Amino acid sequence: MEPQSLNTAAKNTWCPGCGNFAILNAVKSVLLDLEKEGTPREKIVLVSGIGCHAKIADYLAVNSFYSIHGRVAPVAQGIKFARPELAVAGFAGDGDGYGEGLEHLLFAAKRNADITMIIHNNRVYGLTTGQYTPTSPLGFQGRSTPRGSREVPLNPLNLLLASGATFLARGYSNRLDSLKFILRQAFGHRGFALVDVLQVCVTFFNLYEFYNRQVYEIKDHDPGDFEAARKKILEWDYNSADRPIPLGVFYRTEKPVFSPSDGTPPLSSADREAEIGRILL
Ligand code: SF4
Repeated sequence: MEPQSLNTAAKNTWCPGCGNFAILNAVKSVLLDLEKEGTPREKIVLVSGIGCHAKIADYLAVNSFYSIHGRVAPVAQGIKFARPELAVAGFAGDGDGYGEGLEHLLFAAKRNADITMIIHNNRVYGLTTGQYTPTSPLGFQGRSTPRGSREVPLNPLNLLLASGATFLARGYSNRLDSLKFILRQAFGHRGFALVDVLQVCVTFFNLYEFYNRQVYEIKDHDPGDFEAARKKILEWDYNSADRPIPLGVFYRTEKPVFSPSDGTPPLSSADREAEIGRILL
């Protein structure tokens, strides 16, 4: 199967040099691998939110669903709970996922919903032309903070680790091979997996030079060790300009995945109506 078979007729409108292209390429590679390994594309559903990242749903010829701002995780979970045989991946931006949608992410992690979340973390609202987000650094000067943001950023991976996520990783849009590897691991994980991708917005927050200097790929790390994972996640706080930024799979563990059903088959519509009537009487 060729990567071109995943192309659509949609015209790509991302800015030249945007880190979203790398994520698109990495996801294509993972989808082709999955297909080779026996998961046909008909069994895959992609959900996106609102923001530049969301157009990824337009550029991949697989089942996809545009949701609304901050609601990628609940839509992805709804699809997975209704059709457990499908593999469901959610794509969200940092404003989308860590701002409006943060509570949904934490609860999806808490219940270990069997979905894969990929966060295009460019640390700025790109589509609305440059406002600060939950992961923008202190002092970030954008359209809504012309004198510089006065807030320190969140460390989303630390929050998600504390919330019960069973797979956590960080990739970088300018390290394509490692990004592909990390995303493949995330798609293969049973349970809640989240990959925070440092995706550069060349137009409103160009961090290529900074990341190229600071990132490194982790080695000799045991992702099954919770304390080691926390230590690795805390190495960089999304604010410091001089600390090394680790990339890789920080944490992976197995826990039962959430199912909304207790094994009882769903009621037929007639039985459901009768049951509702019985309760209301
Ligand atoms: Fe990419 Fe930024 Fe352009 Fe959006 S505004 S397409 S995130 S470079």
